[in-house]
Amino acid sequence: MDYEAVIGLEVHAELRTESKIFCGCSAKFGAAPNEHTCPLCLGLPGVLPVLNRRVVEYAITAGLATHCAIAPTSVWARKNYFYPDLPKGYQISQYELPICTGGRIDIEVDGAARAIRLTRIHMEEDTGKNIHDGETSLVDYNRCGVPLLEIVSEPDIRTAAEAGAYLRKLRQILQYLQVCDGNMEEGSFRCDANISVRRRGSETLGTRAEVKNMNSFRAVEKAIEHEIARQVDRVEHGERIVQETRLWDPDREETRSMRSKESAHDYRYFPDPDLLPLTVSREWVAAVQAAMPELPDARRARFVAEHVLPPYDAEVLTARQDVADYFEAAVRAHPNPKGLSNWVMGDVLRLVRERKLDEALVIRDWPVSPQHLAAMVALIDDDTISGKIAKTVFEQMVASGDAPAAIVAAQGLSQVTDSGAIDAAIAAVLAANGDKVAEYRAGKDKLFGFFVGQVMQATQGKANPAKVNELLKTRLAG
Ligand code: ADP
Ligand code: MG
Ligand code: ZN
Repeated sequence: MDYEAVIGLEVHAELRTESKIFCGCSAKFGAAPNEHTCPLCLGLPGVLPVLNRRVVEYAITAGLATHCAIAPTSVWARKNYFYPDLPKGYQISQYELPICTGGRIDIEVDGAARAIRLTRIHMEEDTGKNIHDGETSLVDYNRCGVPLLEIVSEPDIRTAAEAGAYLRKLRQILQYLQVCDGNMEEGSFRCDANISVRRRGSETLGTRAEVKNMNSFRAVEKAIEHEIARQVDRVEHGERIVQETRLWDPDREETRSMRSKESAHDYRYFPDPDLLPLTVSREWVAAVQAAMPELPDARRARFVAEHVLPPYDAEVLTARQDVADYFEAAVRAHPNPKGLSNWVMGDVLRLVRERKLDEALVIRDWPVSPQHLAAMVALIDDDTISGKIAKTVFEQMVASGDAPAAIVAAQGLSQVTDSGAIDAAIAAVLAANGDKVAEYRAGKDKLFGFFVGQVMQATQGKANPAKVNELLKTRLAG
């Protein structure tokens, strides 16, 4: 029988605010346990939450970037449950009236474009973290009260690849907006996948399982593939799917039942009496809209139109905002977009990856400034150095941070374009290889490459290859 998977994703994105959502504690990752806490985020009696305005701004910007409607009034709700990482006994979230509704994320898989609809985006506070250590369990409240966006998709996704494309696109948008760093290993971008299967052609939704604990895009894709196969197998054997929460085990590459799924009514949601309904004026939305950066799709299209780049180049260069910025700064210094694109996509990104550097380093600490890269491509373009010598120059730029012209001058790497010097080298090579010259003249054309190689060697690779070719042809013909 032919089955189709139905997938809806819930993403939790930690916001890059300085402070937490309802208190002044730092929201930074990585401090010693419980260093970033106060009576409010520890849930002590008598405290009152004060909303961080920046959180609302970030939610609006994320909503606008994904084509949501921004609610003029939204409501804070208490989601009640007991767990040691939640000291108040409830999480402040949004339920019935979230700040953003509707919207969509455009994805492309194997050349096919699709729009995945969003149900909602709401704001909430993160919980603390339980740390299990043998017999002991410890709890760290640093993360408690760190602001989150929860982004919920409609069950529009059909394959693991579409889920991966959706997540990469969503993360890219949030990174461009600079509202979330998108680090999945550190848990600042987390995804739960709701998965069901049904007979192809059926319009009704099957019973879903919710899968958690994936900490990379690859893990999400694998977990979805595994869960689809498991459900199809059960259905084919006449068994029912139970609504439950399952955990992805990355070592055994399987999902395991964790608990039966709680329903919304289990949480006893009600409006938080400590917080007024949130009102967002049209002026505020307009101000946020006006300050939005260019988003990935628009930037990619512009790279094709304005810099006349192949779509593939535009895709690679705009995958990250900092790489795109680096590239455009270089183009401003030397307007040869395709020449610069080749270098950025090739040597720059390769070296960054080889050294396992965060790609953010391209901008922040990368020793080769965009202006220096541009100056180097300019030296190639005006025939001062060959493409081959440029590789050497580039390596030294990475090592020293020096300007390319300084490296070329200090080491005498300038290309030899002077006909006299090249001609002399050619004469010497031909004189030393009289037998090969005779063979060439008798019709062994392949030897031409040999002569070029010898001349390049004689000039330490500095002879202009086009000039060498031209002069060699004349000499050998004569
Ligand atoms: P909860 O908050 O309890 O997890 P929601 O109704 O908010 O439940 O749904 C969460 C996610 O599950 C959404 O992304 C939604 O699209 C998806 N979803 C709902 N029903 C199904 C289903 N039958 N199959 C797959 N995904 C589903
Ligand atoms: Mg859920
Ligand atoms: Zn606090």
